[in-house]
Amino acid sequence: MFNSLRSRLWFTYALVIGVALGIVGIVFVLYFAKNPVQSLQARIRLQTAAETIFKRVSNIESIPLEQLQESIARADQAFDVRVLIYNQKTQLIIDSRQGEVPPLNLHIPLLRLKEGQQVSVLSKKDESGNGWLYLPKLIPNSMILVVATPQPAIGFWAALRSRGNDIFPTLRRAGLIALFFGLILAFWIAHWVSSPLQKMIQATKKISIGEYTDIPIEGPREVRSLSNSFNEMAKKVRDSQQATRDFVANVSHDLKTPLTSIQGFAQALLDGTAGTPQAQKQAASVIFDEANHMHNMVLNLLDLARFDSGAITFRQDPIDCNALLNRVVKKFTPIADRASVSLKMNLAYIPTILGDDDRLAQAFGNLVDNAIKYSPSGSEVLITLKEVGDYIEISFQDSGIGIPPKDIPRVFERFYQADRSRQGGSQKGAGLGLAIAKEIISKHHGEIQVYSEPGQGSIFVVKLPIAKEEFRKDKNDI
Ligand code: ATP
Ligand code: MG
Repeated sequence: MFNSLRSRLWFTYALVIGVALGIVGIVFVLYFAKNPVQSLQARIRLQTAAETIFKRVSNIESIPLEQLQESIARADQAFDVRVLIYNQKTQLIIDSRQGEVPPLNLHIPLLRLKEGQQVSVLSKKDESGNGWLYLPKLIPNSMILVVATPQPAIGFWAALRSRGNDIFPTLRRAGLIALFFGLILAFWIAHWVSSPLQKMIQATKKISIGEYTDIPIEGPREVRSLSNSFNEMAKKVRDSQQATRDFVANVSHDLKTPLTSIQGFAQALLDGTAGTPQAQKQAASVIFDEANHMHNMVLNLLDLARFDSGAITFRQDPIDCNALLNRVVKKFTPIADRASVSLKMNLAYIPTILGDDDRLAQAFGNLVDNAIKYSPSGSEVLITLKEVGDYIEISFQDSGIGIPPKDIPRVFERFYQADRSRQGGSQKGAGLGLAIAKEIISKHHGEIQVYSEPGQGSIFVVKLPIAKEEFRKDKNDI
């Protein structure tokens, strides 16, 4: 019955309101069952009667018993109180209502009684269970005067059932009205709390069928923050689904083009279209280049997949960056020579860094490769090393075609190429090099930035944290 959050909330509120009102109601009934106004009047009457009778029996030794009985009966009638007199041994000697009502065996705190002293009104039940209010007073001859009156209580059930102009029925009505409005308010609050969650449920259902909608930010603070997180999460899911779609589209496209080319040239070789040895050599060379391109792309994709899954562990060896860059430059010198681009290094003493030299060589290699690839022949690529605070900074500067400002924020995205039409031939890439470089640098707690001006050239700056003192190599080792 109470399966939904809204009904559960409503039921909880209703329960709390009901219990609170119930407790207040019972306390009120218990209070009114004691008939507080009449009780107070009875107490005042007892005190006045006790004072008056006390004065009358002040010379009790000289009053004959009959006269005493008569005087006490008069006092009973005048004040409507039961008058009792006990001797020193607390034996009852006079009772103004003897025979009419059950005997009243009162426990009188004798020790605490002092002659004439005012004692507060006490209460006690008689043998039949009726409550009495009484007031004891020590009178001469060590006797005890007690004035008593039935306790004016109306009882729990009687109070509960009482009607008319009494205050209790008014309170009962007020309680019912409070309960009614309390339940309406509880219903509204339950709706207020649960409706954003309902919207979230709707939105989740839509996401599962591929429709993305933002949930409005409303309701209590926690629900608002949940809605915020939900919207962020939905955005990430959408972006990640989009990225997956883009990725599949890019991979298929980048594989399709070389495969078509390979297929075409292989066909030409098979059916003899490429008849001359020169044409055959050209066909074989295209097939070789395209296969090479596909091979590189698959290797890069495998690397990215391993970075994403965390399957690759990066070594944490002390690295001498000068030696590492020398290695990279040595590897790319033949390529630079072919492109008539000169590779220059501006090395300096820099502290040791910690990391995986093969992976860093892969990242730096792609930056050098790009610099050569996008530079005109006869130009220069400069690699500079320096120490800046807690970091070392390695910049790869070329004076090539540069990157248009609109493409700069996207060059580190997978498969992104600023101008696909400019890529071609054996130099052709897949747009994965910078994405891999960025992954490698960030796994080394570093960062990579690019500054570029179309037609002027580009600078890629890599910042890597310097290793702590104990890992540094001595300056003289370099
Ligand atoms: P891959 O590296 O996968 O072989 P790629 O070199 O095209 O292919 P990235 O290295 O990721 O891919 O570079 C992405 C794009 O950024 C390049 O296609 C190019 O448009 C641009 N780019 C990168 N470096 C430079 C540079 N030094 N000068 C001009 N453009 C650059
Ligand atoms: Mg590249």
